[in-house]
Amino acid sequence: MDTIYSRNNTGIHFERIRYQTSGHLEFVDITDAVEEVVKRSGVQFGMVNIQSKHTTAAILINENEPLLLEDFKRLLERLVPEDEEYGHNDFTIRTVNMNPFEDKNGHSHCRALFLPTSQMVNIIDSNIDLGTWQRIFLVELDKPKDRTISVVVLS
Ligand code: ZN
Repeated sequence: MDTIYSRNNTGIHFERIRYQTSGHLEFVDITDAVEEVVKRSGVQFGMVNIQSKHTTAAILINENEPLLLEDFKRLLERLVPEDEEYGHNDFTIRTVNMNPFEDKNGHSHCRALFLPTSQMVNIIDSNIDLGTWQRIFLVELDKPKDRTISVVVLS
């Protein structure tokens, strides 16, 4: 994880954070990184918005319990099987947004359809106001990738 962009204007603190993920259905706990952004912002009361800049990576809030994370992975695999047929993967007919390194990742996009791209969390007394078991996750729905998260703190 590293910060690749940071800017602080009156009332708005903005950072981009980069992560290298390890692959399909990795749940990366980014709570501490978000907390650090909030601390750097100096905002005591406000909100922080955490946004994925990708179509196959989600941001969500849930419990960081290893068996539960395995349950989530199995649920997503049942909901959207990788071995279904996806038009997005048929490079004989697809013409839009093609690049030389195009992946067959229709299942990754379809899984992303059911998950949020961003989360907004309240800041109280300079801390993100999460419940006891709430953690913020970046969820990788594709192969190992370089991911960028956009974080804005508002006072
Ligand atoms: Zn794609």
